[in-house]
Amino acid sequence: MNQDRGLVVVLSGFSGAGKGTIMKHLLSKYPDCYHLSISATTRGKRTGEEDGREYFFKTREEFDEMVKNNEFLEHATFNGNSYGTPKAYVEKLVNEGKDVILEIEVQGALQVKEIFPEALLLFVTPPSAEALKSRLVGRGTETAEVVAQRLAISSKESKLMSKYDYLIINDVIDDAVERVHNIIRSQHYATKYNKAAISDLQQQLMVFAKGE
Ligand code: 5GP
Repeated sequence: MNQDRGLVVVLSGFSGAGKGTIMKHLLSKYPDCYHLSISATTRGKRTGEEDGREYFFKTREEFDEMVKNNEFLEHATFNGNSYGTPKAYVEKLVNEGKDVILEIEVQGALQVKEIFPEALLLFVTPPSAEALKSRLVGRGTETAEVVAQRLAISSKESKLMSKYDYLIINDVIDDAVERVHNIIRSQHYATKYNKAAISDLQQQLMVFAKGE
């Protein structure tokens, strides 16, 4: 059976949960299975980042213009900066039957769910709050104040976790990557993603039934 369209997969998670690492491993292990949506943002470029690879870096004016022109599937503010998913790219891939992954925060994820009720929402978390804190502290790049700020954001985000379809506990990275891959693969067999195939079978059976 052929699946109707590609899946829209949203991957969210606390800052420090390792969603970026999961994405990197997933794309390198299964390069033919997934496409990553590249967001636009007003935040400054970090060392090592490239325009068009991690993000499309935009000025506030450019971003606002994109909002006005309805170019985003969703957009949200996180830590004082704007982030948005360009709509055209996601729609093109999904229409071609390809699976697209959006690595975005919770407000945006819930907007996506409204537009694509069949989107698959995955939430990544370390096994405990203690583990999350030690990952943030362990990075060594953040001040105590920033760590506290990130944990406060996580606490707020945790209230929306139950709106996601699946919880990915990132204990051992390779296991977490496999879990994400297996969940997405299994979705391809869900009846909701196979409406065209189901209707096709029904039509064929009706023809047979008439012939009898
Ligand atoms: P960072 O600045 O650390 O790269 O990302 C900050 C947060 O913004 C992360 O939670 C990331 O997943 C989220 N984010 C990145 N792109 C988008 C987007 O297009 N839309 C939304 N809503 N969030 C995004």
